[in-house]
Amino acid sequence: MVLFGQMLHQRGYVAATDGNLSARLDDHRIVVTPTGMSKSMLRASDMVVVDLEGRRLAGNRNVSSELAMHLLIYRLRPDVKGIVHAHPPTATGFAAAGLPLNQPLVCEVVIGLGSIPLAKYGTPGTPELSDALEPLVPQYDAILMSNHGVVAYADTLHHAYMKMETVEHFAQIALVTHLLGRQQPLEGEDLEKLKLARTKYQGANSATAQTCSIVAGNHRDRSHANASSLRLEDPIRPRNKDFRSQLKAES
Ligand SMILES: [Zn+2]
Repeated sequence: MVLFGQMLHQRGYVAATDGNLSARLDDHRIVVTPTGMSKSMLRASDMVVVDLEGRRLAGNRNVSSELAMHLLIYRLRPDVKGIVHAHPPTATGFAAAGLPLNQPLVCEVVIGLGSIPLAKYGTPGTPELSDALEPLVPQYDAILMSNHGVVAYADTLHHAYMKMETVEHFAQIALVTHLLGRQQPLEGEDLEKLKLARTKYQGANSATAQTCSIVAGNHRDRSHANASSLRLEDPIRPRNKDFRSQLKAES
């Protein structure tokens, strides 16, 4: 928790006291970062341990104001052991522009995350935020939060942190395609092979998951969700057309 808090700060994914992290300790306890502290200055003794209802079991500080979001994810995803929430600038820029990162532009991202949907806006620290995330949590491992930031979660805190890096890195790549004025999304057989690879990869992971039936259900939902979310619906497309006709006009 201390290390990944420092890494979030070093990479500029959080400013001031932004962001929060948590990890599942066992079936009943979650360790969460405290509220109101820079993620670059945390010590192990600053952490707060809560139960699944959010009651403080250990720690001297007040728990993160986004605790409800963490508890929601742990409740809906028994396979999740670590959660990272941050405001990485490029991905958050997409979230503030109302754009999901759902274009199959980079093969590793299709395998690793499928796509990254955009949850509707919810006021931080209120049930609105959890309500906005709830329909997406079972199907995705990273979510853009409208006008707010990103949440990523995985079977370990380390993997959750890495998903956060992947989201921001992918957002930077997607931004470059926007700057270039065109995109060349993966499609057809190439995309099908990646989706198959993702299913195999996820299947391998689920073998070690605690609740295989729920995880298997999630995977089914997930592949379905990916199939629909990978449709090319991004507002960039008309611009592509403009770009091409502009080239034509100029040539
Ligand atoms: Zn936040």
